Amino acid sequence: MPVIPKLKPCNDDRWKTAWKPMTFGEALDSWAERAPEKECLVDGASRISYREMRERVHRLAAYLLSIGIRKGDAVLYRMGNTENFIYGFLGLVQIGACPIMLRPGNRAEEARELAEQTSPTLLVTMDRHLGEDAEGFIRHVQDTCPTVRHILRESEIEVICQDRSLKLEDHEHEPPGVDDRSHFLLSGGTTGTPKIVAVQPTVLLYAAACYADRGSNTPDDRCLVVIPASHNFTMCVDIFATFVSGGTVVMCNEASPVEILRLVGEEKITHLTPVPALARLCIEFRREYDGDDISHLRYISEGGAEVTADLVRDGREVLGCQTMNCYGMTEGFYGSTYLDDDDEMICQGLNQGVMPGYVLRVVDTDGNEVPIGELGEFQFKGAIRFPEYHDNPEATAEALTEDGFYRTGDLGFITEDGYVAVRGRVKDQINRGGESVMPEAVESDMRKHPLVTDCVALGAPDETLGQRIVAFVIPSSDALDRLQLLGDLRNMNISEHHIPDDVVFVNAFPQTPSQKIDRKALLSSFQERQ
Ligand code: AMP
Repeated sequence: MPVIPKLKPCNDDRWKTAWKPMTFGEALDSWAERAPEKECLVDGASRISYREMRERVHRLAAYLLSIGIRKGDAVLYRMGNTENFIYGFLGLVQIGACPIMLRPGNRAEEARELAEQTSPTLLVTMDRHLGEDAEGFIRHVQDTCPTVRHILRESEIEVICQDRSLKLEDHEHEPPGVDDRSHFLLSGGTTGTPKIVAVQPTVLLYAAACYADRGSNTPDDRCLVVIPASHNFTMCVDIFATFVSGGTVVMCNEASPVEILRLVGEEKITHLTPVPALARLCIEFRREYDGDDISHLRYISEGGAEVTADLVRDGREVLGCQTMNCYGMTEGFYGSTYLDDDDEMICQGLNQGVMPGYVLRVVDTDGNEVPIGELGEFQFKGAIRFPEYHDNPEATAEALTEDGFYRTGDLGFITEDGYVAVRGRVKDQINRGGESVMPEAVESDMRKHPLVTDCVALGAPDETLGQRIVAFVIPSSDALDRLQLLGDLRNMNISEHHIPDDVVFVNAFPQTPSQKIDRKALLSSFQERQ
């Protein structure tokens, strides 16, 4: 029998009402009717109420219909963290057009690859990204994606949203249903080639309601969006968890610690969701400069990668807030710690809270369930059905077991009390001379060295050992050298198995388009040097 983790009672019934499937259009109506004049969206000087947000979304939807965009059309959607991201997304899903959620960092060639699989009719794009205008990107899409008939730039969205002559009721259209796919997510995993996940609105709105419940969010909450808005994690935990609770979303265009902490202070932010690497930078910055009043910050949600013990403690001590460790994936599984869980438990990476309705089990390499406490691969089944890989029945079938569980590829265990501990990826496990070593264990031991800011460990092929451990290290001082580091580690009373065979100093880790550390790229760079 699959293990069903015990659940703490939920804070309120929001997640239950979210079982009632809704389209985004219906959700938007309900939010606007609930508190029309409540501030819902802030972007620089722009402050928008729920009523105004619905009006802008409807104007954009009317415009999209007027240029012939229809229910079922796929749309390449490449937008940054601005209010227009929200109008564009909601405008498209309002009429049943289906945005493909590109990240600003996706290259034009990736857009072409995605277009080949989805035949989009429209490209929606920001005007600039990192100082570069979008014209090169647009030209590449025009030259290589014959189905794309229209281009909509962000600057045009701004104008359209203000145009009061555009009325949704003037345009007949068939509204989308709750079972229609609403948008396409890109599944990053830990490799560079995304799979396209087709999802229904309920998948996102349900997860958002669960996270709102976990965070005890209220209309007084103000959430700062710091990682790319198009990421599933951001949409669930930040944007829609805030809208579901009637709070305010504040957009942060520049994910630098200076700007983040400035906005946290000025906008009285109560919650934000950095990935662990960004949280670490914010903590380091705050240690140097504590001029912003960040006393409203209640919690930060972190996920997408291991949330280490030092991050949880520093979050408490340096930022003065609780950390919610969120474990989930684009394919639809969600869990997180509770805000009243004790630090010690969160520090051990124990997530109690699998969201209601999900069943999680741990299996060995033969697919047999392992006893409580033993390490194996996590597999889950959701009350909300597993979304499918678009037009790729083989990949969908491969991802699922015969009895319908999704193979996460993540390693971990479940405790007697139903706590869930993530311990890395099945594929990333290093086998050094027959000894299984988790990269995460090497990394957290390496970070104990006072001159190591961050570390990524992986297994490189080795003729004698099968694999040897290579540690890529971001040092906090140029004075640190390889021999000194290895010597120090040996004197630091850490497991011998966690001392790397090779150390490579780097300034930063390469990232996949979904902002995961690109381990493949690190390994190739190491192999090229050999
Ligand atoms: P994505 O689908 O891009 O969001 O990536 C999901 C993957 O990120 C999961 O399968 C895990 O490997 C990893 N992940 C997500 N949350 C956590 C977490 N809290 N701790 C450790 N790994 C995580």
